[in-house]
Amino acid sequence: MTIKSINNVPLLGFAAYSGTGKTTLLEALLPKLTATGLRIGVLKHAHHNFDVDKPGKDSYRLRKAGASQMLISSRYRHALMTETPDAEASFEYLLTRFDHQALDLILVEGCKNIAFPKIELNRKEVGKPWLHPSDDNIIAIASDSELDVRLPTMSINDLDAITTFILNYVNPEASQSNKEAACCDTLSPAFLSVKQGQKQILNAVNALATHETIPLIHSYGRTLAKSISSPINVPAFTNSAMDGYAIIGADAGREQFKVVASVMAGSGYDQELRSGESVQIMTGAPMPAGADTVVMREQANVDGKLVSFGDASIKTGQNVRQAGEDLAINQPVFDAGTLLQAPEMGMIASLGLDSITVNRRLKVAIFSTGDEVQAPGTPLQPHSIYDSNRFTIMAMLEKLGCEIVDLGILEDDESIMENAITKASSDADLVITSGGVSVGDADFIKNVLEKHGNVDFWRINMRPGRPLAFGDINGTPFFGLPGNPVAVMVSFINFVEPAIKKMQGVEQFVPHKAVAIASEPLRSRQGRTEFSRGFYEFSEESGQLTVRTTGKQGSGILRSMSEANCLIEIAPHIDTVKEGESVTIIPLQGRI
Ligand code: AMP
Ligand code: MG
Repeated sequence: MTIKSINNVPLLGFAAYSGTGKTTLLEALLPKLTATGLRIGVLKHAHHNFDVDKPGKDSYRLRKAGASQMLISSRYRHALMTETPDAEASFEYLLTRFDHQALDLILVEGCKNIAFPKIELNRKEVGKPWLHPSDDNIIAIASDSELDVRLPTMSINDLDAITTFILNYVNPEASQSNKEAACCDTLSPAFLSVKQGQKQILNAVNALATHETIPLIHSYGRTLAKSISSPINVPAFTNSAMDGYAIIGADAGREQFKVVASVMAGSGYDQELRSGESVQIMTGAPMPAGADTVVMREQANVDGKLVSFGDASIKTGQNVRQAGEDLAINQPVFDAGTLLQAPEMGMIASLGLDSITVNRRLKVAIFSTGDEVQAPGTPLQPHSIYDSNRFTIMAMLEKLGCEIVDLGILEDDESIMENAITKASSDADLVITSGGVSVGDADFIKNVLEKHGNVDFWRINMRPGRPLAFGDINGTPFFGLPGNPVAVMVSFINFVEPAIKKMQGVEQFVPHKAVAIASEPLRSRQGRTEFSRGFYEFSEESGQLTVRTTGKQGSGILRSMSEANCLIEIAPHIDTVKEGESVTIIPLQGRI
């Protein structure tokens, strides 16, 4: 039986005789594939007895000492080395070792004799026979020969053609609609994936160059413009971590100590402690000179001016906080771009700083468009709806610490729009609108954007939120969000928030994601990213997160969003998620 995928992650192999340059080709293809947003795992089969670590390394020594599974981990990567002295692990088993949630495609190098889809590689100069006539797992050929075969063929030297073939293989529907869009729909550009859209947006926006110095007390939610190093040692002096008695560690065996003083936090003992002496000390009080050890009050027996510690075990250095143990002087504390919240504000205060340099607040102008859209607080006219988008967007901007310029609802009148949009673009750092960006929308906003801006009308391969306009007006970044209320929020979270973070000086922002077990089947369509509104909770029973959807999922039904605590993200290559399968979620807490 042919294995085409595992847990919805498609498999694709490269079959060739050695010498054809499989690894070199893969090495050249991987950057092209990952640039489109694909997350790729590789399974490589080796014929010889390979080893991944070196003699002398700790992991090597522990393995040789008998660990049949050795998991080594660091901040950057981890590797599980499993000894299989009796037989090689099966292909199916090896595939289960990948983290399928984190992959869109698994490429396999080698494993010629196993049935799964492969591209055959062949170079004339290597002089090896063809595999495809007798192997029906070969789905395409990349070679430097002229071939007359039914299979798709490509030049082995045309990396772009091979990349396109692979993208098509991973996501046949999207590439179909790409072709359709390119040939027949000249009004609107081709579909973009969520990742492609995000990438283009992040490439187009830059961090603000202006900083300001503000009191620390007003810094909540702001981002640091400059890195901070510690101007002092924290703690500034060596002090006691307990209420008790400070002694000289080498004295620990003594039967009794003379209590020569008592020091509270905020005071000190101004003489050097001598052998046989102790100082009663409170938590946070400075250690007397000469003392290096504190015995807890609970272990002390006091008799007038004498103290003894019975058979308490005493280790030199115990219960003492060393000067600089939290932060040494000049040690880096926070990088530029750090978001200031409770712990950061506290840490900066602990350094003695009461003002800091932060990035200027991003000024965002926002308005709604559409003749049917009406401000709340006025009687509803026939065929109209109240403007909800401006309020959801303003709330999300507020959460992100932006300064908001609310321009209300713009009348569908070309000259009014023109004035408002050009003024907004010169006053603000970013302009956001909702509505009027779908293909076929006749709203005037399009004319104005065409005249004063560089705005692309995209169709993103996602639901909800397919239409999205992005570009600039007179150099100021512009987002035209879709009109549907849920689509507005989902597009904001996926596209606007990362852009705002970057403009605020936060590099490498990606929404935090987690994995949860679907407690009901989740429908999606292959070829697009589906964002359902979900509610996740921790299951005491399984010790895992479970997630369900929140009622009706129409893109106009804002209640689905209000009842949700996460978005459920179903990647383009996944069709339906069955109950019990795992899905990616984007928690909303702290975001909206
Ligand atoms: P559009 O993208 O302009 O075609 O709008 C799509 C849907 O969103 C339509 O049903 C609009 O009535 C609705 N819509 C547009 N703007 C808003 C708004 N500001 N608040 C609530 N709904 C809106
Ligand atoms: Mg409209």
